[in-house]
Amino acid sequence: MNLILLGAPGAGKGTQAKMISEKYGIPQISTGDMLRDAVAKGTELGRKAKEYMDRGELVPDEVVIGIVKERLQQPDCRKGFILDGFPRTIAQAEALDKMLGDLGMKIDAVINVAVPEEEVVKRIVNRRTCRKCGAVYHLIYNPPKEDNKCDKCGGELYQRDDDREETVRERYRVYRENTEPLIDYYRRKGVLFDVDGTKDIKGVFQEIDEILKKFAD
Ligand code: ADP
Ligand code: AMP
Repeated sequence: MNLILLGAPGAGKGTQAKMISEKYGIPQISTGDMLRDAVAKGTELGRKAKEYMDRGELVPDEVVIGIVKERLQQPDCRKGFILDGFPRTIAQAEALDKMLGDLGMKIDAVINVAVPEEEVVKRIVNRRTCRKCGAVYHLIYNPPKEDNKCDKCGGELYQRDDDREETVRERYRVYRENTEPLIDYYRRKGVLFDVDGTKDIKGVFQEIDEILKKFAD
């Protein structure tokens, strides 16, 4: 089952991707996580990407396309995968079509998680992320059991540099301009499914799960 999760920053893509990954045993491929990992390790890629990320802009297409191409060739993707945060531009979507075609694969479903701007801002400014395992919390909607400590691995929780309100507004603008057109791109291909992302975490997962039952083998 090859999936894409589409939606504004803060819509809940990462949260849902982790739940799908656990239930269906397919990897979550988050370009945001991969880029943050490169930044934390101080690699050449990380140094380049950080400037864009801190400003709330998109990292250049050729950079992210290269990362995804390499990742999709790993053996754990043969059973399926969940793309989270990629593609974000039409050029990325076209590159994805091409690379999947070359690998003899295709996208089964694109889940569009719809959440209005004011709600995503509320979600992002209170998001906390585990430095060690990447688990995602929300101070009000999904708080950790102990302050600043990850329930899963005990790691320290931090606020991402790009999760401050000014940057969030810019990221939302970038989403409207570059990523929202992908909704029509995939609708035309007949693979798009809309989900009401304003429900609580379990409610959204139930909606997604109903859709995925058709594709799971
Ligand atoms: P994305 O990956 O789309 O940027 P996340 O999955 O990181 O979004 O979610 C953004 C924030 O909102 C996190 O703090 C997360 O805990 C919280 N969140 C995710 N889904 C929901 C939901 N359905 N209701 C309330 N809060 C949510
Ligand atoms: P995310 O974790 O998905 O919210 O992504 C955080 C940041 O990483 C974005 O604001 C971009 O700067 C960068 N990024 C992640 N995925 C992509 C992508 N597919 N294309 C371009 N930039 C990306």
